[in-house]
Amino acid sequence: MATGKINVSVENIFPLIKKFLYSDHEIFLRELISNATDATLKLKHLTSIGEAKVEYGDPKIEVKVDKEAKEIRIIDQGIGMTSDEVKKYINEVAFSGAEEFLDKYKDAGKDAGIIGHFGLGFYSAFMVADKVEILTKSFKDEPAVHWSCDGSPEFELKETDRTERGTEIVLHIAEDSTEFLEDSKIRELLKKYNKFMPIPIKFGTRTETLPKPEDAKEDDPAPTQEVDDIINNPTPAWTKKPNDLKDEDYASFYRELYPMQFEEPLFNIHLNVDYPFNLTGILYFPKLTNDLNIQKDRIQLYQNQVFVTDNVEGIVPEFLTMLKGVIDSPDIPLNVSRSYLQADGAVKKISSYITKKVADKLSSLFKNNREDFEKKWNDIKVVIEYGMLSEDKFFEKAEKFALYPTVNNEYFTYEELEAKIKDTQTDKDDKMVILYASDEEAQHSYIEAAKAKGYEVLLMDSPIVPHLIQKLETSKEKISFARVDADHIDNLIKKEDTSISKLSDEEKDKLKEQIEGVIGEKSAFTVQLEAMDSTAQPFIITEPEFMRRMKDMQQTGGGGMFGMGNMPDMFNLIVNTNHELVGEILSTKTAKKRERLINQSLDLARLSKGLLKGEELTNFIARSYEMIK
Ligand code: ADP
Repeated sequence: MATGKINVSVENIFPLIKKFLYSDHEIFLRELISNATDATLKLKHLTSIGEAKVEYGDPKIEVKVDKEAKEIRIIDQGIGMTSDEVKKYINEVAFSGAEEFLDKYKDAGKDAGIIGHFGLGFYSAFMVADKVEILTKSFKDEPAVHWSCDGSPEFELKETDRTERGTEIVLHIAEDSTEFLEDSKIRELLKKYNKFMPIPIKFGTRTETLPKPEDAKEDDPAPTQEVDDIINNPTPAWTKKPNDLKDEDYASFYRELYPMQFEEPLFNIHLNVDYPFNLTGILYFPKLTNDLNIQKDRIQLYQNQVFVTDNVEGIVPEFLTMLKGVIDSPDIPLNVSRSYLQADGAVKKISSYITKKVADKLSSLFKNNREDFEKKWNDIKVVIEYGMLSEDKFFEKAEKFALYPTVNNEYFTYEELEAKIKDTQTDKDDKMVILYASDEEAQHSYIEAAKAKGYEVLLMDSPIVPHLIQKLETSKEKISFARVDADHIDNLIKKEDTSISKLSDEEKDKLKEQIEGVIGEKSAFTVQLEAMDSTAQPFIITEPEFMRRMKDMQQTGGGGMFGMGNMPDMFNLIVNTNHELVGEILSTKTAKKRERLINQSLDLARLSKGLLKGEELTNFIARSYEMIK
C-alpha cells in the first residue's frame, strides 16, 4: 500500500472546489460520465487499431445509487488505469487541472454565465462527496488498483484483486448533498446532460412486456422480462449523415428533443461541417408567433454529444435563437464569458456559417416549392424579417426569398413588387411609394381607397415592421413606404397636380373657420382642406407616417427618437372640398344644422379610423337613431 500527498500549492483545495459554483454542483455527474465515455471511446480506438488486444464488446456505463450506504457509483468498461496512471492522471494531471481552473476563474464569479459549464473534471466529485474511491483495472496486464481520498490532499493507493476491466468511481455523498441520493434526481440529471451521449448509460432496470406466445390462452397475462434501463440515445439524428435520414427521422428526433411539444416543426436544416471548424446539428423552424420574447432559449448546445446549455446567445446570431434544435461543436470555447465568446474568431465563423446555411435552406425551399413556402410565410416571417434587420449578410441573401404579401393574398418578392407597381405608384418626384396596411380590418376604408386607385397594398403586421421598412428605405434608392392611413390617397402618391377645387379661396377660409369652430375642443385634429375626387369621402382622418412610425419603433424597442413613446397621437382631419356634403356645410344658413353636419361627419371619420369610443360613441349612436326616425 502507498500513501502520499497530492502536490498542491494551496494547502486545501477541496473546500474551494466545494464552494465554487455552488449552483452548479450537479455537473459532477456529467463530468464523471464524460470521463467514463472518454475511457470507453479510447479503448474502442485502441482495439480498432490493434493496439489493445482485448475484446471491445458492447460496453456500457452504469450508474448505481445506494441510498442507505450514501453511495453513488459510476462504472465503465473502458481502458482503466494502471497504478502509475492513477498517480499521473489523478494525482497530478487532474489535480493541476482543477487547480488551474480555480485559479483562472475564482474572480469571474457567477455572472460569467457559461463558466462552470466545463473544465473541472474528476475533482468536481468533491463538490458532492466527502470521500471518493477509484477502483480501476487497466486493459493492460497489470494489477487493479484502489485509490481513495477523503477530501484532504492526502490520498491512499493500493493494489486490489478486481478482475473486470474498467473503472468504478465510488462517491461517498456528503451530508449537504443527499439530494443526489434520490433516484429521481439522478434520472433527471442523466436525462438533462447525457440524453445523447455516445455510450449507452444504464440506470437500473425496467420491465418490458413481451409478445404473448401463440398458444397462450386469452386471459393469460403477457410475459415480461427485466431489461437494462438505458437512459440515452447514443446515436441521435444529428450525428448521422443527412443522406441517411428521412423526413420521418427528423420528425421523430424533434419529438425526442421536445417530448412535451405537440406542434410539428415546419422544416429543418441539417448542419454538418468539418472545416475550418467542426459543427453538426439540426435546426428546426417551429411555428412562430409575433411575440419575439417568449420564443428564445430553445436551441440546445452540445459538445461531443454532452449537453452544455440551452442558452446559445453569442454563438448563434440573435435572430436564430427563435429556432429550435441542437448544435454540437467541440470548437466552441465554453469556459469563457459571453462577451469573450462574441469576440472569438471561431465563434464568429460558426455564427456566420449558420446564418448562411439558414439562408441557403430558405432560398431552396422558395425555389423548389414556392406555393408551399408562401403558405408557411406567416409562421416564419418574424425570423426572416428579424434576420434582415439585424444581419446585413442575411439581408442581402433574403432579397431572393423574402416575401411581401398583399391584402389580396398575393406574395411578391421585392423585385416582383417593384415591377408591378413601378409605373402606377411612382409619384411626381420620381419616388416609388409602397403602400402598406398593418391591420386589414382597422384600416379597411383606407385600403379600399387605395385599391380604388388601382394601387397594391401590402399587409405588414409583424412587430418589427417599422424598423424593417426604415432599413429598406435606406438601402434602396428612391422608394418610400407609407401606411394607407398616413394621408389621403392623392397625397400619399402625389401625381401632377390636376385637381381643381370647386371652392374659391374665401370660401375655403370660411369653411376652415366653420369646422374649427365646431371641433374646437377636440383639436387633436389639424384641419387640412384638399380638393379631391367628389367621390372620395368628405372627411378623412389620417396619421402622418413619420411620427407614427417613430412611435411604433419606440414601442418595439430602440431605433425611435428619444421620448417619442410619450408623445400624444397626431392626426389630420382631411376635408374634401369637392364633396357635395362639404358644399352643403358651407352653404347652409342655420348654424345648428351646420354644427350637426360637421359633428356627424367628424364622428363618421373617427369611426372609420377606430377612434370613436366610450361616451362619444354612445352619443353618436343615439344621435344617428334620432336622424333616421
Ligand atoms: P480531463 O478529463 O479533462 O482530462 P479529469 O480531471 O476529468 O480531466 O481526468 C484526468 C485524467 O484521468 C483523464 O484525462 C484520464 O486520463 C483519467 N481518467 C479520469 N477518469 C477516468 C476513467 N473513468 N477511466 C480511465 N481514465 C480516467
